[in-house]
Amino acid sequence: MIDILSLTLKELEEMLLSKGYEKYRAKQIFSFLYKQNIDNFNLMTALKKDMRKQLSEEFFIYSVKIRSVSIGNDGAKKYLFELLDGALIESVLIPMDNGKFTICVSTQVGCTMGCKFCATGRMGFKRNLTASEIVEQTRYILKDNGLKIANIVYMGMGEPLDNYDNTVKSMLIMMEEFGLGISKRRMTLSTCGILPSLKQLKKDLPYINLAFSLHSAISEKRSMIMPINEKYPLEDVLRVLKDFPIPRRRRITFEYVMIKGLNDTREDAKALINIMSNLKSKLNLIPLNKHDLIGTKFEPTSMNEIEKFAQRLRNKGIFVTIRKSKGSDINAACGMLATTKAS
Ligand code: SF4
Repeated sequence: MIDILSLTLKELEEMLLSKGYEKYRAKQIFSFLYKQNIDNFNLMTALKKDMRKQLSEEFFIYSVKIRSVSIGNDGAKKYLFELLDGALIESVLIPMDNGKFTICVSTQVGCTMGCKFCATGRMGFKRNLTASEIVEQTRYILKDNGLKIANIVYMGMGEPLDNYDNTVKSMLIMMEEFGLGISKRRMTLSTCGILPSLKQLKKDLPYINLAFSLHSAISEKRSMIMPINEKYPLEDVLRVLKDFPIPRRRRITFEYVMIKGLNDTREDAKALINIMSNLKSKLNLIPLNKHDLIGTKFEPTSMNEIEKFAQRLRNKGIFVTIRKSKGSDINAACGMLATTKAS
């Protein structure tokens, strides 16, 4: 049986053609699946009866099972999904101040990167998600909230570029105009800097929004909290980011979790100014969210100190925002998604 939500339009067209059907049927099926949310081939009444029968015999429509939905004080909704093999993943719907919505999707069950300040990194790694498991998080949440469109951020559980093929495929499927029709401008991929995949992404999906998990502009410090820095050093990643084609009037976002005494000093600000002055970028300062899996080793920088740090950078012309972490009361904020105890 073929997982139809894992197919791009082009793949489905080719598959239908090989079975003797017209190419345009693929667009019809995409529209049934993604625009009309029809999860049963027998209800796709614009298709001939024989075709519906054959589709039911050869394809299946992946449906994630919802385990629970938690709603935070600020309106953020955390979805706990159970996958076919029983694995659990989380996704978050975040209401924005401008009345729009952002959906944060996961790409892996757990994560192999082991960033020290991140609950997902502490829970270990189980497996990559399939393209359909990534797409289905969006499809389900849009439907559940009666939404037609949302910004999609690949910032949930897992490192998207560590599951490269399925991540790119899921983006192509979501961007298809006969399907969910989510434009490139609404897609943001966040990475800690897997160099070979980042270089490939430049070829496969240029002009999507990119967020880079920086967390320290000083390479030795970054290695202390992000083991990936040993394999793909900051300087090499920055070189690739400099050449990354980004949309007009957009900047690469540098994500920076503020950890007391570790990356919030004058020296850290200076290092940031140094690397950011040469790059079309903006800095997103994120107050560290506490989580049982992270323990007490890291403490958040106080809001007062974060403001001072931000000002120091703004004085040098760096574009800085301070993220209001949504969903922290339901463990849905940045770095808090985790579905098991620490491994
Ligand atoms: S911050 Fe991202 S890359 Fe690092 S462990 Fe957490 S999920 Fe993985």
